[in-house]
Amino acid sequence: MSSGLLTDVGRQRQGGVNQDAALALDLPQGGLYAVADGMGGHAAGELASNLALDTLSQAYLDGRGVPPERLTEAVQAANLSVLRHAVGEYVGMGTTLLAVLIDRGAAIVAHVGDSRAYMLRSGELHRLTDDHSWVAEQVRLGNLTEAEARDHQWRSVVSNALGGEERVRLELFGFSLKAGDRLLLCSDGLSGVVDERQLLELLSRPSTPDQIARTLVNAANDAGGPDNITAVIVDVIRNLRPPRYALPARQSEGPTYADVLLSARRGNSLLTYLLLTVAYFTLLGVILVPEHRMLLGLLGILVLVGIFIARRVLQARQVARDAARPTFTASVSVASSKSRPVRDPNH
Ligand code: MN
Repeated sequence: MSSGLLTDVGRQRQGGVNQDAALALDLPQGGLYAVADGMGGHAAGELASNLALDTLSQAYLDGRGVPPERLTEAVQAANLSVLRHAVGEYVGMGTTLLAVLIDRGAAIVAHVGDSRAYMLRSGELHRLTDDHSWVAEQVRLGNLTEAEARDHQWRSVVSNALGGEERVRLELFGFSLKAGDRLLLCSDGLSGVVDERQLLELLSRPSTPDQIARTLVNAANDAGGPDNITAVIVDVIRNLRPPRYALPARQSEGPTYADVLLSARRGNSLLTYLLLTVAYFTLLGVILVPEHRMLLGLLGILVLVGIFIARRVLQARQVARDAARPTFTASVSVASSKSRPVRDPNH
């Protein structure tokens, strides 16, 4: 893993305040990378984004359990931290939060708001995240085109952010990484002014992550730099084995409450407890009632096998459902779009 980040105030922000924040934290098996774009007045936006990232990294480091759950809990902690500080002159502050955790050969994305994650793989650029914004909603509903959304006066109206309420909705999903993958995490100050074709071209350059981040920020400033600009680049150098826990699958219904995601993941470990409990009582029965030990043993084994088969069937269904879903929702393979015929809008 090799990473670089840069955050810049841009060209047109009064007071020179940067409400964006970025994080690159090395971890023993990978790293935690994040971008936050604060809102709610100069000082408030700056506080919100920095609070979110400080809390995220601290809560992740202090957390327990497997990384997808730890990351979800860290996002919850970041949300509460922003919410609790939103008093007095900071009332109404909020922030986007896009975090990518790299754990050996896998990436886990936690996403709230309209910051974006992209992946350059084999010369193609894939957009990993959907914007939680009013215009993106309208594009999904077919009321606006991508181009109209880009120039819309409400383009920066976010429909989901940290700091709004006690419960936080997020998108959480994981996928396997390959050597040569290059990830980009950015705020709308970059993606709003540099289009995907240009992103592909700039990301494809054989420069270091730090140089690429600089190049991207320069490109956004050259395009007018109307907003704060943040870019985090992560290069995957080697192929590593994916982790042993199940990677979270993308939710088709969009951002989901963190507590709902956590209880769904914990349902699996409940089944494990059930298996252990049945095994324990079977053993206990065999020891305490030796005259029926054959019957008890057989009964226990039957129940265990039954639970095991039920779990397998449920898992197979889940895998089939996940397989039916594309790995990247908004896969824009910009590279191949050049050869697509351009339709005449007058016909
Ligand atoms: Mn912004």
